Amino acid sequence: MLTWPAVPVPAIPGRGGPVLVRDTSSGELTVAAEGPVARVYACGVTPYDATHLGHGATYVAFDLLVRAWRDSGLDVTYASNVTDVDDPLLERADATGVDWRELASQQTALFAEDMTALGVLPPDVYVGAVESIPAVVDAVELLLATGAAYRIEPEGDVYAAVTLVPGFGAVSGLDHETRLAQFAERGGDPQRAGKRDPLDALLWRTERPGEPAWDGRSLGRGRPGWHIECAVIARDGLGTPFDVQGGGSDLAFPHHEMSGAHLVALTGDVTARPRVHVHAGMVGLDGEKMSKSRGNLVLVSQLRADGVDPRAIRLALLAHHYASDWEWTHAELATAEARLETWRAATSGNGGPAAEPLLAELRAALAADLDAPRALAAVDAWAQHSLAGPADGGSWDVTDPATEGAPGVVARALDALLGIRL
Ligand code: ZN
Repeated sequence: MLTWPAVPVPAIPGRGGPVLVRDTSSGELTVAAEGPVARVYACGVTPYDATHLGHGATYVAFDLLVRAWRDSGLDVTYASNVTDVDDPLLERADATGVDWRELASQQTALFAEDMTALGVLPPDVYVGAVESIPAVVDAVELLLATGAAYRIEPEGDVYAAVTLVPGFGAVSGLDHETRLAQFAERGGDPQRAGKRDPLDALLWRTERPGEPAWDGRSLGRGRPGWHIECAVIARDGLGTPFDVQGGGSDLAFPHHEMSGAHLVALTGDVTARPRVHVHAGMVGLDGEKMSKSRGNLVLVSQLRADGVDPRAIRLALLAHHYASDWEWTHAELATAEARLETWRAATSGNGGPAAEPLLAELRAALAADLDAPRALAAVDAWAQHSLAGPADGGSWDVTDPATEGAPGVVARALDALLGIRL
């Protein structure tokens, strides 16, 4: 699948240190990648109602990680997917009378435009569910052959015996009742007759009347389950174990628990799960989580169509720590627009406070669990100082290279580290 265009990331003086993130499984701050390579998989969208601000916040968060890693000199590979065939997409296509392929391609294109506008660097590995089908069929055949999966007759659907996989449950750390509830709520089918365990995950759904289907060789015609799709794309694109599995916090269970279990079963290696799981919080509106099913979405594309500067949208997202749950209000945009104006004025001046202390603080903030609000506060302080002028009330000394070149260095750092191109 084609990604959106890459943009050049400007070079800036110095280098960042190791980036710590909070691992969902352990609850601890941990080094996101030991280096010299760094590999992250951020689960992509199901393209039927893209891109709401919850999505925007999630992908901006993992973009910060990629930028901080690159700044620290790591060789970064970022992988993602597009679930361009799945139940919610087919249901939306049915409900609106649009061909599911058309809906998926329109929404995938819109998502790419939104990511471009938000300054999110494109993934290095970007694979659609439909593209992944031959590799998924191989994987499901392997799991059947090793006894890690079984069929339910008469349909012939294939399920993974995930609860028997060593370490199952470690990613999300939930008790059994909560797992069952979240599985039912988030696309699982605990009641399906014939399953050996209610939590077993669908790997291959055989063809049903009116549903799209592909050649599954020994599996029969059908389509892939969601968790195996991500497991296969991640395994093939990044290798195992990779460093960071990311996504919204509603993916911790079942999605990341299941895809992690699939990686272990596929490789026969109990250490094949991603080393670290990082989850972005939920963005709410009017007291509820923003979601398609609740119909309370604020779309990035709608804000753009209303004339909002996408850099202000990105700044509004960065004003909240990625892991927190927060409520969107339109006042967020006014604050972000004012900040953008201030930063632009401060970086276009003739001289300013030295850039190095700010660069150090930006790097320290990102290294401390991608603390974007702390980074924004540091830029605000520099910008205020820049606009106010030196303490003696005069002008910045433009014969001193440290102050003369500071606005340019800061502007490049905001671009490279925060993704805000002024
Ligand atoms: Zn995924």
